Amino acid sequence: MKVPYFDLKAQYTGLRDDVLRAVDRVCQNTSFILGDEVAHFEEEFAAYCGVAHCVALNSGTSALHLALLGAGVQPGDEVITTANTFIATAEAISYTGARPVFVDIDPRSANIDPDRIEEAITRRTKVILPVHLYGRPASLNPIMDIARRHGLTVIEDACQAHGAAYRGGHAGSFGRAAAFSFYPGKNLGAYGEGGALTTNDPQLAQFARALRDHGQSERYFHDFIGYNYRMDGFQGAVLRIKLGRLHEWTAKRQDLAQLYRSLLGGARVDLPQDDPLSDCVYHLFVVYVDDRDTVRRELETRGVQTAIHYPRPIHLQKPYAALGYGPGSFPYTERACERCISLPLFPEMTAEQVRYVAEMLAEVTEPACVALASGCAFS
Ligand SMILES: *Cc1c(COP(=O)(O)O)cnc(C)c1O
Repeated sequence: MKVPYFDLKAQYTGLRDDVLRAVDRVCQNTSFILGDEVAHFEEEFAAYCGVAHCVALNSGTSALHLALLGAGVQPGDEVITTANTFIATAEAISYTGARPVFVDIDPRSANIDPDRIEEAITRRTKVILPVHLYGRPASLNPIMDIARRHGLTVIEDACQAHGAAYRGGHAGSFGRAAAFSFYPGKNLGAYGEGGALTTNDPQLAQFARALRDHGQSERYFHDFIGYNYRMDGFQGAVLRIKLGRLHEWTAKRQDLAQLYRSLLGGARVDLPQDDPLSDCVYHLFVVYVDDRDTVRRELETRGVQTAIHYPRPIHLQKPYAALGYGPGSFPYTERACERCISLPLFPEMTAEQVRYVAEMLAEVTEPACVALASGCAFS
């Protein structure tokens, strides 16, 4: 059996008529940038996230950048986050001139460990930026609590967490603002680049709207030096179509993830823990194994495509070497990056495919198989 890592084409097949009609509509209206489709999408996505405002942008990275600027982050400030994330989380902090300050993860969730945040707070700390990695909400109650006690702002990196819930509240509605990405492979993916900032703060929303469009509040009257972070009309139209299906797709991901969990119970893999009171939306299904690269190769020969999210933590990436964190600074993060493997998971995947992947994974993680495949003797 062949199991691809994901399959965007299968999804398009079911959407094709709607998408082609939407393209035609956008072209007929010549609303190529922002416009009605984007404005409607903003209203619909705000409602979906349980927030008052959504500002549609050209990427999740832009959303993080504007959220940080909206929180008043300036050169010399510090922003506390995790090194177990996609690099955009740290880059957005760097764009503002602030310094990313990393905190190790809780190995059970792979998200920032709230118990280690306070020791990282200094006079310069302005924001705590938790990432809901793989669609699993970070521990927002303790994080919001710490922020309140220290007068800090929370901004959520919800780029992988469309529709996730933390103890009954929507991911993306806890912090002062949140960033979502609509990169094609995300749970809600555009047919190009896309992102959004969500917030309940009308002033922050207004500020972000001005900044995304060259800092103008009125055409050709500019109040700030802004950016070109606008969303395309076509992406707005596609995202509206797909938002209508997101609930069903998420339920599908969650069912397949539960199937994986039940099948992998006996295998030599570590599974992340889900908070029973929260809703993980399983952007990715990540497990942890020893001798990861061998396991990956062996799965590949059995027709199973996998991926790594992410092979190197941010503090060990070249552009962040200057921060001075060396290997060993965040042991749980580093161990997660060495052992993580993302298994295929997408809404169109079948239960048979999940069973096959689980069976192959159990087979290749058996001690004898791993030892033979890597050419090492039993010790
Ligand atoms: C995808 C992603 C981003 C960046 O989103 P883009 O739309 O690609 O700019 C930021 N943070 C995380 C955790 C992501 O997964």
